[in-house]
Amino acid sequence: MDGTFNIGGLDAPFYLPQADECDIFAAAFAKNLPLLLKGPTGCGKTRFVAHMAARLGRPLYTVACHDDLSAADLIGRYLLKGGETVWVDGPLTRAVREGAICYLDEVVEARKDVAVVLHPLTDDRRILPIDRTGEELQAAPGFMLVASYNPGYQNIMKTLKPSTRQRFLSVEFTFPKPEHEIPVVVRESGLDGDRVSLLVRLANKLRGLKGQDLEEGVSTRLVVYAATLIAGGMSMDRAIRAAMIEPLTDDADIRAGLMDLVVAVM
Ligand code: ADP
Repeated sequence: MDGTFNIGGLDAPFYLPQADECDIFAAAFAKNLPLLLKGPTGCGKTRFVAHMAARLGRPLYTVACHDDLSAADLIGRYLLKGGETVWVDGPLTRAVREGAICYLDEVVEARKDVAVVLHPLTDDRRILPIDRTGEELQAAPGFMLVASYNPGYQNIMKTLKPSTRQRFLSVEFTFPKPEHEIPVVVRESGLDGDRVSLLVRLANKLRGLKGQDLEEGVSTRLVVYAATLIAGGMSMDRAIRAAMIEPLTDDADIRAGLMDLVVAVM
């Protein structure tokens, strides 16, 4: 299994659509509109962007945003190289110059000055002013801005402002239905469909507990991890504990309760 999927002669990473998200992405790309992907972690957003970038034949710059990420990290900065000060483009600037797709994963985590940079790029001006060099770049054809965020996190400080959110088309991602998730996990892990079906049933039971005991449901990523361990020879029990229970909570009592649920489902 090479994890790729051939479309139109291009090797695109395998992505199984949940609905019409590929059409929306392609339409946004064609019309120069930015796109926001909303949804929980591990439900396929990053894979989707990689897949679409390959299908559309555009280079992809992915930035995992964190609370220390500033506009300068995206735009670039002067660096000292061999005694000389040289300007080095950041990933956003490179994408703007080359007409690439720039994917800002978990954009709400970034510092506030990032939103200021994104605004002129997300309207029909499509410009990136670089104060430090005095340049004002016009985005090359093919440039597209894609951002993701997880509205589920209970952090009031970290929601996206309406003034930013309303500049993007939005697509909502949820945990896939079993008829989508089972083939994805089979394909990604190589485990047989029967055992994958059991894991997916368990994942959905655990997702049902979100909000009661758990902050976040089991992601497809974790189901793939469990299936990969089992396909590699680990017992179901041990793999489930390591991949689908331990990552969910640090509370020992809750974990014990979740293991009871595993016994009931398996
Ligand atoms: P996110 O960016 O939403 O956190 P990822 O794109 O990294 O999540 O997805 C995690 C993993 O789940 C991927 O590496 C892939 O194995 C699997 N996955 C989830 N949904 C899909 C899908 N629709 N098609 C293919 N793989 C998927």
